[in-house]
Amino acid sequence: MRLETETWTDAAAVETDLALLPVGSTEQHGPHAPLGTDTVDAEAVATAAADRYDDPVVVAPAVPVGVAEEHREFAGTLWTSASTFRAYVRDIVRSLAAHGWDRVVVVNGHGGNAAALGEVTARIVRHDDAYAVPFTWFDEVGEHSSEMGHAGPLETSLLQHVNPGAVRADRIDDAATGGSDRWGEWQGRVNLAVDSHEFTENGVVGDPRSASAERGEELLDLAASALCALLDAVRERDPRPRVGE
Ligand SMILES: [Zn+2]
Repeated sequence: MRLETETWTDAAAVETDLALLPVGSTEQHGPHAPLGTDTVDAEAVATAAADRYDDPVVVAPAVPVGVAEEHREFAGTLWTSASTFRAYVRDIVRSLAAHGWDRVVVVNGHGGNAAALGEVTARIVRHDDAYAVPFTWFDEVGEHSSEMGHAGPLETSLLQHVNPGAVRADRIDDAATGGSDRWGEWQGRVNLAVDSHEFTENGVVGDPRSASAERGEELLDLAASALCALLDAVRERDPRPRVGE
């Protein structure tokens, strides 16, 4: 049940403890994919899982701006501080819980959000009347996950499947040749780079030429299955706070 398109009376009638909160980003995704890629992908995974789950699942509207300052040198990228992002996500989860949807999976589409989501969901579990846990879709797609990159084959494929018109097919060759083959500038196990423009000329990491809508369909299926399995586990968790404020 997507809150954006329901009435409050239908929301009041839904019987479930489970909610999904998609979180994305507005940030550069190379010359071939839109700035909203992470938001579109996170929302697609959340909706697909809710559609196939046996019981009703509430899907909240997607959070469109996250922790993305690492892409600040590329036009159109927006970001918040980690503390603002954590506070905003926490308030949304609390408001979901106030309606009885107190077991929440935060469905994440952007690697830069992951640390902040781990911190805020732990805080929610410890202190709030809700249980929450993050799920980053591209970590949950089996052996594909090793090819993640940025605006590379995974994100491009999923977009080609869920929103075919969004990918600029005529720029994929340029996207590949102006990109980097790995994230960061490494000395041993230390990443010397802070921002993505330091190691990728056009913002891409990985080779989007191996993307396809068929692969996107498979990725969506894998991610939605993993998310449904997670919902099975999350519905058994106790939403009561573990410690006082
Ligand atoms: Zn992305």
